[in-house]
Amino acid sequence: MAQKAFASSTDLAEKEQSLEVLADGVYALTAEGDPNVGAIEGEDFLVCFEAMATPVAARQWLARLRSHTNKPVRFLVLSHYHAVRVLGASAFDADVIVAHDNTRTLIAERGHQDWASELARMPRLFKEPESIPGLTWPTATFSDRFTIDLGGDRGECVLAYCGRGHTDGDIVAWLPRQRILFAGDLVEAQAALYTGDAYHRDWSASTLDKVASLGAETLVGGRGAVTHGGSGVANAIAQTRHFLHVMLREVDSVRERGGTLKQAFDATHAALVDRYGGWPIFEHCLPFNVSRLWDELSGIDRPRIWTAERDREVWDQLQD
Ligand SMILES: [Zn+2]
Repeated sequence: MAQKAFASSTDLAEKEQSLEVLADGVYALTAEGDPNVGAIEGEDFLVCFEAMATPVAARQWLARLRSHTNKPVRFLVLSHYHAVRVLGASAFDADVIVAHDNTRTLIAERGHQDWASELARMPRLFKEPESIPGLTWPTATFSDRFTIDLGGDRGECVLAYCGRGHTDGDIVAWLPRQRILFAGDLVEAQAALYTGDAYHRDWSASTLDKVASLGAETLVGGRGAVTHGGSGVANAIAQTRHFLHVMLREVDSVRERGGTLKQAFDATHAALVDRYGGWPIFEHCLPFNVSRLWDELSGIDRPRIWTAERDREVWDQLQD
């Protein structure tokens, strides 16, 4: 059988972007399974959520946003350290770039390797990669909660840490008044999960419990369409949890019977493919996901750093 093309390296067809107004002054840009971004209007400023992969890609998003509002970007919120979420930051000209404490640590520790890895995995997202001026550094970080008063009668935007999940530094942006949640990659709606840097056990239990406890009625996940309504939000969270539970069950059972990583991959693929195989980036993510989960269950607490070379090794070992 011909080997599958590496990650999303041959997924080069442009995705259609849709700008949705979720409430007065609250915007989401989704793109058929490509990373989602958002923006929230304060009285005289903007909070932008996620920065896209390059300044050129970010400027296209800002150009669309500018047909709704001309307010300057005071806060740029980075949900986590992954390159496709952060490297477009310079386009926003933000006063403050906010992230979790652990995100700053991860950028310092593995930001360059992650950049090279993601560029090779998802070249389409890196529009004009030479426009990236360097790593993105948060200018304000926090451990638990960071509240932005939106001014006027707009309420507040609460940035919250819900525990270890997709990485150990994911944060969500929560609008209690509008009950809208920007969940980053902690929740995906009809898109496959990437768990190559994850803490599966925490994510599938206490972290998603905390996300669910917010009681969102609109949810913008990391990828996929905006989810509307309390039951839709519950479904998106349940789907994310189910994906993680199946992975945990399959990889654990192969390990328990003394099997190999390749067998764990095959078993996990077989268990997930009927329900999730058609969703964006499923085939791309799974080798990296199973490799990380195998490590986690072997007692390796901190995810090993993905490099462009290690990506290819794991891919060649598992995805054939
Ligand atoms: Zn991510």
